[in-house]
Amino acid sequence: WQLPRGAEIETHVPTGIDVATPHTARMYDYFLGGKTNFAADRDAAERVIASIPGVVETARANRAFLGRAVRHAAEQGMRQFLDIGTGIPAPGNTHEIAQSVAPETRVAYVDNDPIVLAHARALMAPDGRGRTTYVQADLREPEKILASPEVRDVIDFGRPVCVALISIMHFISAADDPQRIVGTLREALAPGSMLIVAQATRDRVDREKAREAVEIYATTSAGVTPRSHAEILAFFDGFELVDPGLVRVAHWRPDGAPPTPAQTALIHSYGGVGVLP
Ligand code: SAH
Repeated sequence: WQLPRGAEIETHVPTGIDVATPHTARMYDYFLGGKTNFAADRDAAERVIASIPGVVETARANRAFLGRAVRHAAEQGMRQFLDIGTGIPAPGNTHEIAQSVAPETRVAYVDNDPIVLAHARALMAPDGRGRTTYVQADLREPEKILASPEVRDVIDFGRPVCVALISIMHFISAADDPQRIVGTLREALAPGSMLIVAQATRDRVDREKAREAVEIYATTSAGVTPRSHAEILAFFDGFELVDPGLVRVAHWRPDGAPPTPAQTALIHSYGGVGVLP
């Protein structure tokens, strides 16, 4: 994988940013072809690409899933989004998609990586009815996110909210009790709320290669925990999955022709959308 010719790589380092440790947000930015990444990120990302063919395709299919799933939620009437694990701003951010359906939509973004904070201005819609906010916080402390005054200023939990956990749950280890985290968020939601989840899987990935990738991620800002279809499905406990259920992200309501089996074989991520009855 190489940057498109002529693309510029970021050389300015915002203060307080650790560029020596590979950061997952910047590795993902590299997979997507962004320029907010540094030598250590690119090196770790290239090693992941070398061990798992399809990582770049998976990241892009994941980003496209984000777009379709957020658009679907907005078309179903969601006017408030809590997007946890925002990532470095990239084309098709949640508020852009949701507000293209309904300009009054409010979005609260949450990420724990300071590099995302440094770029958060790109996530700020002009003040108006469709307000956005950005909060630096950790998904492993969901109570703090729910209690955050900035989040509460934008999100009214008395009304339906769409919670987006897109490409973040695999950074939550079993020791961090992901089931409890999702359960805490669910309990704060009004009926009619929605949950979007996409997460990496090792299903159909060669065991040895999956182990290599996990080892590389162990040297980054956040270790990775790939999960099985059944484990990811459990995050939707209490929600009703909308069609087509939890599937490879590229198969979730594709805009054009569904991916071929050869394309699908490169997508190592499941995605789904649920509604809280
Ligand atoms: N949701 C976006 C970006 C995914 S990249 C998309 O799908 O395109 C994953 C993001 O999750 C990164 O920005 C990383 O910093 C963030 N992240 C990882 N672990 C986190 C945690 N425990 N709390 C908050 N954010 C976290």
